[in-house]
Amino acid sequence: MSSLDQEQRLHPPCRDKTTVSSDSSDIHELAKQPLQGLKLASHVELEKAQQRGRLKCAKCGGSRMFFCYTCCSLVGVSIEEIPLIKLPVKIDIIKHPNETDGKSTAIHAKILAPNDVTIYTYPCIPEYEKEKVVLVFPGPQAVTVQDMIQCLLDRTDSRSHDFSDGPCLKRLKNEEAHYTTHSAEDPGSGTPDEATSPESRVYPLQRVVFIDSTWNQTNKISTDERLQDLLKVELKMRKTCFWRRQKGKPDSYLATIEAIYYFFKDFHENCLAQEYTGQYDNLLFFYTYLHSVVNKAKISAGKC
Ligand SMILES: [Zn+2]
Repeated sequence: MSSLDQEQRLHPPCRDKTTVSSDSSDIHELAKQPLQGLKLASHVELEKAQQRGRLKCAKCGGSRMFFCYTCCSLVGVSIEEIPLIKLPVKIDIIKHPNETDGKSTAIHAKILAPNDVTIYTYPCIPEYEKEKVVLVFPGPQAVTVQDMIQCLLDRTDSRSHDFSDGPCLKRLKNEEAHYTTHSAEDPGSGTPDEATSPESRVYPLQRVVFIDSTWNQTNKISTDERLQDLLKVELKMRKTCFWRRQKGKPDSYLATIEAIYYFFKDFHENCLAQEYTGQYDNLLFFYTYLHSVVNKAKISAGKC
């Protein structure tokens, strides 16, 4: 039995009301379940902002709530009122130009982890080094997050003759970092974990790419020759809770912010080999709030 099977049994996926005919309160509970127990910053300021209603974005004048998806700036909420997240690896999100900005959750990542997230609009994307960058995308060739680092190392080893210095230098740094980990006895110098940078722990991974678009467009982007050779990584927990689930789309299609969240949760446990205690839960800060607003609206309308 694969770990995927276990994972899905442990975390029943969201059910679409068209596929489940049991009691409606059960459906509601099921739909909420994957978002329960998260360590989130307070939503009080979002509630206040929602009561004030939409405001004009100071930059573009668009009518917005919480943030402007065009300008990538906060609207009606200040930076101190939202959590700031530090990710252990930089991420790029590639957006399809036809994707409606207002529906995309990619902007959540950029606003909550501004120093670690870059959004590109397809076809303007960087050239990636396939030994250092992975693409989160399901498929027959995709590997798990757990196997990702070893797969990248295998690629590096098989092509090491192509490099004159970079990988060797970095490998040395990596070994030094491990040495520090095992020998850090000085109580004044912090814990061993603090002495080892996330970068050195997950060498050679430097960047993770996500695609933000509808299902068909995603397939088109993923087969772009600049992304085709990247190692593809599949997430274990893949069932979406997205309230805007698209008709005819498999329910393994995650909202972009969900995919980013599940990736880093897996990453923390399997690559950093640390206990996950909610470090990246706030990636879902806006998502959970909007999810609860939509659920409440459905309940009051008697649809759920
Ligand atoms: Zn704007």
